[in-house]
Amino acid sequence: TPAFDAERVRADFPILQQQVNGHPLVYLDNAATTQKPRAVIQAIVDYYEQDNSNVHRGAHALADRATEKFEAARVKVADFINAAQARQVIWTRGTTEGVNLVASSWGRSTLQAGDRILVSAMEHHSNIVPWQLIAQEKGATVEPIPVLDDGSIDLDAFAGLLDDRVRMVACGHVSNALGTVNPVQEIVRMAHAAGALALIDGAQAVSHWPVDVQALDCDFYVFSSHKLFGPTGLGVLYGKEALLEAMPPYQGGGEMIETVSFAGTRFNQLPYKFEAGTPDIAGVIGLGTAVDYLQALDRAGAAAHEAALLAYAEERARATPGIRLVGTAQQKTSVLSFLLEGAHPNDVGLLLDQQGVAVRTGNHCAQPIMEQFGIAGTVRASFSFYNTRADVDRLFEALIKARQFLV
Ligand code: PMP
Repeated sequence: TPAFDAERVRADFPILQQQVNGHPLVYLDNAATTQKPRAVIQAIVDYYEQDNSNVHRGAHALADRATEKFEAARVKVADFINAAQARQVIWTRGTTEGVNLVASSWGRSTLQAGDRILVSAMEHHSNIVPWQLIAQEKGATVEPIPVLDDGSIDLDAFAGLLDDRVRMVACGHVSNALGTVNPVQEIVRMAHAAGALALIDGAQAVSHWPVDVQALDCDFYVFSSHKLFGPTGLGVLYGKEALLEAMPPYQGGGEMIETVSFAGTRFNQLPYKFEAGTPDIAGVIGLGTAVDYLQALDRAGAAAHEAALLAYAEERARATPGIRLVGTAQQKTSVLSFLLEGAHPNDVGLLLDQQGVAVRTGNHCAQPIMEQFGIAGTVRASFSFYNTRADVDRLFEALIKARQFLV
């Protein structure tokens, strides 16, 4: 098979063909959000120009077309993550809402005083705070699974934490702050062996390689459309059917009911039980198109290309004096998190932006792990398959200039 052609796929992303501050844009903030291929943007335009209507309740052609495309996208996403049935795919507003939905619905109906919830110490705040909120309400506790100095999970310590009071293990598939790829299949297996459920935050994983929720055997898997080349404000909650069936609704309203009366209301079946109100129809159709785009892409080639970019960036970082890498686990993907010694990350970010290089700076919504490393934040360059070696070169040219200015 021919090598993955990043230059060719770049042409599918209109936003990348621009100048920023007088330089061709180098977009290295893909962990914050990914760019959208033209096909996704066009699908959203087509929807509003041709099909705009409300779903599931129409008695007319437009409503039928909107509903058909909306539900077809659910099937595409189910296939994409290898869910057994489309009804196990629930639309949310994003990863954040997916975790909140499970914490609220499952947590409120299940947790008892003294129960324990384990989350890795490198979690994004959105996979910590929803658990803290429900734990506080229920008298349960949220405890960190220790992370080693290289940014990998301490599996021995995790094993030591597990007992029959642990009800939920919530863990990221890939850390947005460090790029660590966690051994989630093993983590799920260990959680189950202790009688706990496992929720995996896949926000940073689904864009990099095919995820198979049945092979992982996780109970819940959550991710965001906007980090998967789709529109913002939309996400996916996958859950095991029996759990979703047993869980009470998260929000009440239209669409999630079967019948409403003041004597009592009957809830709709899955997935609609968890989809109160008019959903983000255009967004769902856009995400379906993003999945089509990825299914047509050489994903193995894209993953190999991303791995080569990260290896090259790490090699250049090690050869550049004054750069300290944060997160050096064996298993990593697409994230170079670092400090330029003697310079504040925000100042570095500003000087990179002036040279057309977009990165993220700060704590990456992962304050506990930053605190463990004794830092307030990092500079983070994060890659996607449309990045090139030339982008990495531009990053390091700009960093060397920034260092001359700052240090
Ligand atoms: N988890 C991880 C690992 C993330 O990287 C992010 C986004 N930075 C989130 C959760 C939250 O995603 P969203 O803001 O799309 O809900």
